[in-house]
Amino acid sequence: MTDLPEPRLLDRFGRVGRDLRVSVTDRCNLRCTYCMPAEGLDWLPKPEMLTDDELVRLVRVMVGLGVTNVRLTGGEPLLRRSLAEVVGRIAALTPRPRIAMTTNGVGLDRLAAPLAAAGLDRVNISLDTVDPQQFRELTRRDRFEDVEAGLKAAADAGLTPVKVNAVAMRDVNDTGVAELLQWCLDRGYELRFIEQMPLDAQHAWDRSRMVSQAEILERLGERFRLTPVQDRGSAPAERFLVDGGPQTVGVIASVSAPFCAACDRVRLTADGQLRNCLFARSEVDLRGPMRDGASDDELADLVVGEMWAKKVGHGIDNPDFEQPDRPMSAIGG
Ligand code: SAM
Ligand code: SF4
Repeated sequence: MTDLPEPRLLDRFGRVGRDLRVSVTDRCNLRCTYCMPAEGLDWLPKPEMLTDDELVRLVRVMVGLGVTNVRLTGGEPLLRRSLAEVVGRIAALTPRPRIAMTTNGVGLDRLAAPLAAAGLDRVNISLDTVDPQQFRELTRRDRFEDVEAGLKAAADAGLTPVKVNAVAMRDVNDTGVAELLQWCLDRGYELRFIEQMPLDAQHAWDRSRMVSQAEILERLGERFRLTPVQDRGSAPAERFLVDGGPQTVGVIASVSAPFCAACDRVRLTADGQLRNCLFARSEVDLRGPMRDGASDDELADLVVGEMWAKKVGHGIDNPDFEQPDRPMSAIGG
């Protein structure tokens, strides 16, 4: 087995960066209301996006700094045509990182098998409701059946455990959380709810309307017996055995119970900007120096410096909190 590189992605609070989230595109084929407006966003012009060579090079530099997990996300990662090739090239790095993807699942019915063959290990598929009509309202697209097929294909391709990410929204899908859990249990998918965060492009997030972890657990508790699982580590989801297990449900309480103290994440945007936090107000440009001829060591120094500057927490509850300028879809969720 190859020795792991000395971890160098350290911050002032003793955390170690291990988990790299790479946004491979900012484009998307859905329009989830908590994420982007109906008309979409001003997508990045192609010349500003990292090429495959640039993207893989930056991942390699970061694997050399101690990154052990790479998650491909977006926007909708399946929209990047060269995705399987990128996965294959990341899987060929030494030491090989674990490779996961967060996707809305549209098109995964065709792509799950080739991606698994290229080296993808796991997927998280976002699905907020199993009511096709509600799905259409929430995502502004009539694609529920595609996502359903994508989930099945992911399981068939061995991209397991297949995890489902859901955002509960007040007066939209909040009364359907138990039904969603039952649907996932019946199919062997691991469901995790994520509290809605102030990362929408429209800046319409309202804390007082957010469906909190406590509320989700209360609703689930009306139908299921939930027992906390104790092995959380740096995982953001608090997990619960459902009716004694072995199946579980998780809740990521990013707002009401932030897990910043255990955060091991760092993010690379599709245009080559490194962010030490989803909520960071600044980012460091890696694309510019790379295109100007920076060496791997020089790029590594920029990454190390940005990690050192990571703040203790996201500060959503601070009176001076300001939502980042980029929405989640452009940062890479
Ligand atoms: N398009 C892919 C998808 O939807 O899975 C990947 C990108 S998406 C930005 C990643 C995750 O962020 C999804 O699970 C989505 O539900 C979640 N998300 C988007 N906006 C959010 C928000 N304002 N609060 C919490 N989660 C959000
Ligand atoms: Fe697209 Fe994902 Fe945002 Fe929904 S959450 S609009 S699928 S990027």
